[in-house]
Amino acid sequence: MTGSQTAANPAGLVDGFGRVHRDLRISLTDKCSLRCTYCMPEAGVPWLAKQSLLTPDEIERLVRVAAGEGVETVRLTGGEPLISPNLIEIVRRVAAIEGPSGPIGVAMTTNGIRLPEFIPGLEEAGLNRLNISIDTLDPDRFRELTRRDRLIDVLAGIEAARRSTLRPLKLNAVVMRGVNDDEIVDLVEFAIEHDAEMRFIEHMPLDIGHTWDRGEMVPREEILAALRKRFRLEPLPDRGGAPAELFEIDGGPAKVGVIASVSAPFCGSCDRLRLTADGQLRNCLFAREELDLRTALRGGASDEAIRDIFRASVSSKRAGHGIDDPGFVQPERGMNAIGG
Ligand code: SF4
Repeated sequence: MTGSQTAANPAGLVDGFGRVHRDLRISLTDKCSLRCTYCMPEAGVPWLAKQSLLTPDEIERLVRVAAGEGVETVRLTGGEPLISPNLIEIVRRVAAIEGPSGPIGVAMTTNGIRLPEFIPGLEEAGLNRLNISIDTLDPDRFRELTRRDRLIDVLAGIEAARRSTLRPLKLNAVVMRGVNDDEIVDLVEFAIEHDAEMRFIEHMPLDIGHTWDRGEMVPREEILAALRKRFRLEPLPDRGGAPAELFEIDGGPAKVGVIASVSAPFCGSCDRLRLTADGQLRNCLFAREELDLRTALRGGASDEAIRDIFRASVSSKRAGHGIDDPGFVQPERGMNAIGG
């Protein structure tokens, strides 16, 4: 470890639009146990070099500096974070870091495969909450969508999460036209049965092949219309910087969320930064520039120098993702190497 502890920055990481960044998403690996068609090719991709991946020491140090800059929550993602050999240790170290308003909150987004064996260790290490991705309840459709016959393992993961102390428990589904848009109601009922909150995500242009087609995306309005055929929905106020717009179902307590990044962007209240598994800082999911924290770390940079990289990233953040801009260019990096 080099450099001394930096003084806390009460102002926090504020960008040119006044957005205060409190949430750091950390991709632990670009590898995954599934091959979702909207993410990567069946054969996978050339994985990031092992020696380029951040170590637990490096991740802990970056989160400590970020906490000094006002970051309050960390979400661990991938690829698939359960594949990362250091997952439990990273959760333990991050959960022990004091943030501006108490211990850093630690969440994780996973595809749920192998979750039953990890949950006791994750709970003990200090994980607070879980999001589990499930796009379909149909085994054949699951096999087509993910190129793996693992629905039964995902369901076992969700069941193990239901029995755990990790709350709130959220289930995420990417809705695609003619693929799983006929399961919207079924997925909500499944989530309610598992004491979880279902969230529907609009399909975004983040696939490795750059084959995204707006026509395949099912927009917010259609998702809500499908839900309203079965449920009474009451919008819930104050989403703050949260991506999901929440609705109470049939008078509650069950809720459902819609993450309408494309048709109803929420960039105006974005509070997120992203750290890739190979130590690149991204100020937006759709950023095309990255700042290299790994080289700085391994080059002996002080905490102040690391802090300044966080500040530089935030100060260069655009107003939004720009998907509707004529000049929009999809990021080079695929979703598997950015993280949710
Ligand atoms: S697209 Fe970028 S700016 Fe918009 S909410 Fe997502 S991360 Fe934030």
